[in-house]
Amino acid sequence: MKKTDVIIIGAGPVGLFAVHQLGIKGLKAVVIDNLDKAGGQCIELYPDKPIYDIPAVPECTGEELTKRLLEQIEPFHTEFYLNERVEEVKKENDNWKVKTNNKNEFFAPNILIAGGVGSFEPRKLSIKEAEKFEGKSIFYAVKNKEQFKNKNISIFGGGDSALDWALELSKFSKITLIHRRNEFRGAQHTLDEIKKLEKEGKVNIKTPCQIESLEGEQNLKSIKIKFDNGKTEKIQTDVVLGFFGLIMKLGPNAEWGLNMNKKTIEVNAENFETNKKGIFAAGDICTYPGKLKLILSGFHEVALASVECFKRARPNEKYRFEFTTSSKTIQDRLGKK
Ligand SMILES: Cc1cc2nc3c(=O)[nH]c(=O)nc-3n(C[C@H](O)[C@H](O)[C@H](O)COP(=O)(O)OP(=O)(O)OC[C@H]3O[C@@H](n4cnc5c(N)ncnc54)[C@H](O)[C@@H]3O)c2cc1C
Repeated sequence: MKKTDVIIIGAGPVGLFAVHQLGIKGLKAVVIDNLDKAGGQCIELYPDKPIYDIPAVPECTGEELTKRLLEQIEPFHTEFYLNERVEEVKKENDNWKVKTNNKNEFFAPNILIAGGVGSFEPRKLSIKEAEKFEGKSIFYAVKNKEQFKNKNISIFGGGDSALDWALELSKFSKITLIHRRNEFRGAQHTLDEIKKLEKEGKVNIKTPCQIESLEGEQNLKSIKIKFDNGKTEKIQTDVVLGFFGLIMKLGPNAEWGLNMNKKTIEVNAENFETNKKGIFAAGDICTYPGKLKLILSGFHEVALASVECFKRARPNEKYRFEFTTSSKTIQDRLGKK
């Protein structure tokens, strides 16, 4: 069994920054995530998309943000347990015992749940044949836009992801944007840009219609869509991108006896503790009056949670507030000479 000061559940941006905030206070943490890499939604859902509201970083992609967060916590040599899902959380005196689906066990006075939306899965195309093309011609996220260069791409969906990728990929591929309603839910200015491209013949928009069938042997050759008025149309297609939103599966996180509110965990906004002493929640998974599901909010939340974690992990020491610029202790912990 691995003993540590804080068990962090979730390696999204908030879990990663938690390592930093705990580390500069001299606390050790382990990070567990059921995805195969760190970064949470940033790396899984929008690695190539720019983010514009990280303080002092005017623009960076989801992937760049993840890299920078990982670089920032390098001095702490934190152990990551990836591809592991936390299944069980049990109290043992004043400590917590955590068990993963790989039967690894961890023991600590504190747990910090930075589990985002839980283990999330994209909603997929409803027709059975779609499975055989998945990962080859059908995708539900864009991990590397280079692989979509010079293709005929049919993009399904009416939200921001569908619109953003239609715009981005139209720079080097032929795009057909298909949605089951006439109205799009995504940002109006993106839609305006796409309508402009439609007039120039660079993007086709098909509404209101849905997928009817797929054609191709190993790889996709074409798709057939059906309009609400019953008409059908065949579209030459190498790649289908489906952006139908996510199915949020909170999974085991909802079973640990924590006070929940609409799939989120209620916390005290003074220290981000849940109704269980020593279990904290931060980032998208927590809720409190005025909560904003933004990365910067999560950063603030773990800064406060880490103070309370310190008090529990070092009951005989006094917590001292210090600036990184002037604290020799923090600079030593960061390996700065
Ligand atoms: C398309 C898109 C664009 C966005 N743009 C912005 C933006 O511009 N600015 C901004 O501030 N925010 C943006 N966001 C929101 C932002 O990504 C989230 O607020 C942020 O990712 C939340 O971070 P988190 O660490 O709380 O959770 P997540 O990033 O969701 O990470 C949670 C991690 O916990 C893991 N996990 C959950 N349960 C378990 C378990 N039981 N065991 C093991 N692992 C578990 C999951 O696998 C996941 O990796 C955007 C989101 C999307 C989808």
